[in-house]
Amino acid sequence: MNDTIVAISTSLGVGAISIIRLSGKDSIEIVNSCFKGKDLRKVDTHTINYGYIIYNNEIIDEVLVSVMRAPKTYTTEDIVEINCHGGITSTNKILEIMQLEGCRLAEPGEFTKRAFLNGRIDLLESESIMDMINSKSEEARKLSMNGITGHISNKIESFREELKKVLSQIEVNIDYPEYYDIEVITEEKIKNIIKKLKEKLIDLVKDSENGITIKNGIKTVIVGRPNVGKSSILNKILKEEKAIVTDIEGTTRDTVEGEILLDGILLNIIDTAGIRKTEDKVEKIGVEKSLSKIEEADLVILVINGSEELTETDKKLLEETKDKTRIIVINKNDLKNKVNLNNNNNNIVYTNTLTDEGVLTLVEKIKELFNLEQIKTKDYTYLSNTRQITLAKQALKNLLDAEKGIEENLPVDMVEIDLKNCFENLGEIIGKNYSNEIIDNLFKNFCVGK
Ligand code: GDP
Repeated sequence: MNDTIVAISTSLGVGAISIIRLSGKDSIEIVNSCFKGKDLRKVDTHTINYGYIIYNNEIIDEVLVSVMRAPKTYTTEDIVEINCHGGITSTNKILEIMQLEGCRLAEPGEFTKRAFLNGRIDLLESESIMDMINSKSEEARKLSMNGITGHISNKIESFREELKKVLSQIEVNIDYPEYYDIEVITEEKIKNIIKKLKEKLIDLVKDSENGITIKNGIKTVIVGRPNVGKSSILNKILKEEKAIVTDIEGTTRDTVEGEILLDGILLNIIDTAGIRKTEDKVEKIGVEKSLSKIEEADLVILVINGSEELTETDKKLLEETKDKTRIIVINKNDLKNKVNLNNNNNNIVYTNTLTDEGVLTLVEKIKELFNLEQIKTKDYTYLSNTRQITLAKQALKNLLDAEKGIEENLPVDMVEIDLKNCFENLGEIIGKNYSNEIIDNLFKNFCVGK
């Protein structure tokens, strides 16, 4: 962390401006050595300075240079940002010069990693920065902004504060066991705090599944035999001609994908190839793909042609998808219906894609299944990745064990162990204690220059 790093922070391509960013103790010195304009070593912090990048007596580009001195910067180190004319050649040339002058090319996410390691942001805030960059919907933006501004971290911190209270009460209990009065009072207090915290943690874990839905969208797979109307339904939902609609069976051999925002939540829809028993190799690959897609899906839309009797393949698909979150669409409702599923399943929707019949009901059904209305009315203070949620669940489990321990009159130091574990789990969420492996894994998924 002692060296000075450099990276192109804007995306590389033809554009009006590119930004080359440096962070580290030598960043001002390095840029100054090839800058014609004011002496950057003497300019005020957080100023923008006009001039030229000069190298070997050649003017490389006309630039604006932002100088931001430690500690009030993104990484808490000295940061210099060179705004040059966009485009590949000038940007790359300046990047090269900075390296020749003593910078090391930054690894992906290294600026943010430094911000974390230098204690400016916590782990959850770092993850939220990445989420913001990758967010595809307004809701995902709101969610990550709540993370960046520390709302979720504060919530976790407040839980840790509660636990500290319990732990100190327990210390009193251990230190002064002879005072019966103290013991009675503290036990009541401990129980109370644990109960309240338990409720808050349960809520957080439950709500955080929403965070995942908001962030990743709902992976939706449309399956069914060839020609039942999958592509037509996809098109109706997507309201665009992305899937091929045709009379020829099995034309949609591979998968067709599309994305829509449903009430602000992203729906990643995959229309699979027709499923049927076949010797045709290409078709077979498609069939296998469909079955594997079912496994990965958050939501399966199983389309059945209502104008034909159920076939073996339909029955197989009904069986294969029975444990998934599933909507059964009985299509071609304009024709005489020959399908009667008769199983009190209220996730059945009847559609006719020649008109718009049933399409709205299908969309409403999706919203209902994923509580999309409820998500919109909440405050977006959720955990939003599996790492965080798994730790919150572990924290909850340890807390429940502590509660049980108290009820069963276990020795207080055993209860204390569970509570300390809970405290540690919560700390891990925000990166109070972390392993290098987790940190390396997290930041390598960032883009270079962030
Ligand atoms: P896929 O192979 O399952 O994707 O099916 P397609 O969407 O390609 O549709 C196959 C055929 O069924 C096309 O000729 C569509 O026009 C027709 N089709 C789709 N939906 C309906 C419907 O609701 N009613 C009727 N009568 N025909 C439909």
